[in-house]
Amino acid sequence: MPRPLYPATLTAKHQLSENTVQLDFRLEAGFDYQPGQFVQLHFSFQGQDYKRSYSISNSPESFRSSQQLEIAISFVKGGTASALFSEAEPGLELSIGGPFGVLTAPEKYDGRIILVGTGTGVAPYRAMIPALKKLADEGTRILVMMGVRHRADMIYEQDFRHLADSSGSIEYRACYSREKSLDTSANEYPGYLQNQFPQLNLSPEKDLVYLCGNPAMIDDASAELTALGFAPRQVKREKYVFSS
Ligand SMILES: Cc1cc2nc3c(=O)[nH]c(=O)nc-3n(C[C@H](O)[C@H](O)[C@H](O)COP(=O)(O)OP(=O)(O)OC[C@H]3O[C@@H](n4cnc5c(N)ncnc54)[C@H](O)[C@@H]3O)c2cc1C
Repeated sequence: MPRPLYPATLTAKHQLSENTVQLDFRLEAGFDYQPGQFVQLHFSFQGQDYKRSYSISNSPESFRSSQQLEIAISFVKGGTASALFSEAEPGLELSIGGPFGVLTAPEKYDGRIILVGTGTGVAPYRAMIPALKKLADEGTRILVMMGVRHRADMIYEQDFRHLADSSGSIEYRACYSREKSLDTSANEYPGYLQNQFPQLNLSPEKDLVYLCGNPAMIDDASAELTALGFAPRQVKREKYVFSS
């Protein structure tokens, strides 16, 4: 059965990095989701109808108290949604469908959870922050790894640094593929996210790995994890593929 569409109004736009903004939408009551899921924005642009998928970047707890759904969008050259949302002002009305997706946090996990995201691919992990704190309190070890080219491209970094500071069971790593000088005392690492894998003592029996964002990163990382013996159920993926 198709999911209902919810009327939504853009209430605010926040610059997260040079190329990325957070859009806040007010939604009617009745919408609910699990942290890690995504929605589809249905909009009209220059007389045509479009839909595009975006991860929800705030937690259900935050949504229930504010009725605001947050998404982070990175603009691409020549993109339709990119053109609309780079110019959009508060008051814009559209429809939101969903929620969709199974990149969700488990209720319990006896082992380590490794959350890997490139660019806006960290948005679903931000929505999981209260769930991750609860898991860590119950003994789950958690590693969040964010990957971008340059430090200036990083989004939501303080949220993850605060999360790591809140528990000895949570670690955060920032990976930069094009940054020359790195602060190793601030958990900054060079290269692609998957370059970290050999240092992580990965275990197909104990680790649950989440991969989100750039499709090429997900393909590379999945191939490496499969070679290490990870079964498909131990690797959750959300590829940010373009709409055709
Ligand atoms: C499940 C899912 C969740 C997603 N979540 C997010 C999210 O949270 N944040 C987010 O920013 N995006 C996310 N995306 C991607 C998003 O849905 C759009 O594809 C993206 O915003 C581009 O849309 P557009 O209309 O601007 O570009 P389009 O009009 O679709 O594309 C225009 C041109 O740009 C190219 N292009 C499109 N995207 C890229 C890109 N990333 N890099 C290089 N070239 C590109 C296309 O090939 C095309 O030639 C998600 C995708 C999926 C499937």
